[in-house]
Amino acid sequence: MSLQDIRGQVLCDDYILNYYSVDSSFYKIRPKCVVIPKNVSDVIQCVKFARKSKISVTARGGGTGLVGSALNSGIIMDLKNFDKIKLAKNYVTVQPGVRKGKLDQVLAKKGKFLGPNPSVGPYCTIGGMIGTNASGTRSLKYGSMIDNLLAVTVVVTNYPNVSKNSCGYRLDRVKDPKNIHKIIAGSEGTLGIVVSAKLRIYNIPKKKTLLVVGYNSPKLALHNCQKIIQLEPSAVEYIDDYTMRNFGKKFPKSIKCLLFVEFDGNIQYSVKQFRKISDGTILYKTAKNDTISKWWALRNASLHYSLKNLLAKQTTSHIIEDATLPVEKLEQILPVLSKLKRKFNPVFVMYGHTGNGNLHVRVSVSKNKDNVDKIAKEFFAEIIRLGGTITGEHGDGIARTKFVKMQYGSKTYSLFSKLKREFDPDHILNPGKIIS
Ligand SMILES: Cc1cc2nc3c(=O)[nH]c(=O)nc-3n(C[C@H](O)[C@H](O)[C@H](O)COP(=O)(O)OP(=O)(O)OC[C@H]3O[C@@H](n4cnc5c(N)ncnc54)[C@H](O)[C@@H]3O)c2cc1C
Repeated sequence: MSLQDIRGQVLCDDYILNYYSVDSSFYKIRPKCVVIPKNVSDVIQCVKFARKSKISVTARGGGTGLVGSALNSGIIMDLKNFDKIKLAKNYVTVQPGVRKGKLDQVLAKKGKFLGPNPSVGPYCTIGGMIGTNASGTRSLKYGSMIDNLLAVTVVVTNYPNVSKNSCGYRLDRVKDPKNIHKIIAGSEGTLGIVVSAKLRIYNIPKKKTLLVVGYNSPKLALHNCQKIIQLEPSAVEYIDDYTMRNFGKKFPKSIKCLLFVEFDGNIQYSVKQFRKISDGTILYKTAKNDTISKWWALRNASLHYSLKNLLAKQTTSHIIEDATLPVEKLEQILPVLSKLKRKFNPVFVMYGHTGNGNLHVRVSVSKNKDNVDKIAKEFFAEIIRLGGTITGEHGDGIARTKFVKMQYGSKTYSLFSKLKREFDPDHILNPGKIIS
């Protein structure tokens, strides 16, 4: 058995290996070769070859992951030829290499959309979104990938005899055999390679209204989120002072952070109720699609705005970047950050999907890597103590695999190890991620 029988491409050129040795994280791992399968039998052939040769296979989508999940030293399998979309009334069957942007265009023509919408926009793929259990600004109302994954076709190395968040394996969502496919969401290519998925889709709402709300303090804004989500908005997003000042717009000096609150149903009533419960000031209110899109473009580029002017002087890490707390405990992140600031003197920037309790806190320290690791350890311990998860949407990757045991404890972690062994007894599927 060899890779020569594969009908797609097998590439080992230097520049190809360099290209696939990075993604959107800070990590770099050079693979041995890249396989671009043409069809499912190529995928099966490649996995069989890898198993026999004891070499790893790591599926790759758009390479937009932030924690190094798609990097490894064996075979990288790029599924870009798997690009078919088949639309039905309330669901769509998609192959993993389909770019989110292409799917959006096809769905929009029929007045439909997919719920999860990572801020990276059109560039990620469906395979990668399932792999990381991706979400986004509207996941508050429309869920993460795990909520919209109706069925999945996977190439595995073994089929497990079991029936039953983006950290670890989501055993909590596999309570009966009908839901076994959900285990693949967030599994980062470590259990199998997705070759097709059936996803729930929604009608595009006829109207939307976006409120850009200014708050005098982060505490007020984070505290307000729990009341706001009772009104069933489609999005509640937080932007800190540093990030919003980089937007290039004028905001009053007294405003220290923003919430973007969007409603796409029952709008008049919801906005009226919002005015009653809001602790902030509505700075802008718009129902015009163009204006709404312009505001969201700013929010979606917050990774860029939050780090602007910081990187030259400091080093930043993607270890801490998408922890998630129960919404009612969100404001408790502030004393945690203050304590770490006193101890290690980092710069913290923060934005994110606060309607889901999901905050993109980014830590920037003067060039001292040791401190990043120490801060991460203490920060994660506090997140876990508060009942949260160390990763709400980007997954474990290289950055957080070593913290999975800390999140779940030894008993659950050993269940994860058993599950991994059942699916992948030779440990060839994206090794070193989730289970170390
Ligand atoms: C600027 C920016 C903003 C972002 N904003 C968000 C956000 O708002 N929300 C969010 O959730 N994420 C966000 N991300 C992270 C990232 O875009 C998502 O995780 C995305 O879903 C990854 O898709 P991808 O196709 O690039 O996957 P890749 O990075 O290529 O792969 C991700 C993981 O999926 C696995 N995988 C890929 N294809 C398959 C397959 N066919 N079968 C099995 N496993 C597979 C890989 O092995 C890897 O473990 C952002 C990233 C950037 C750079």
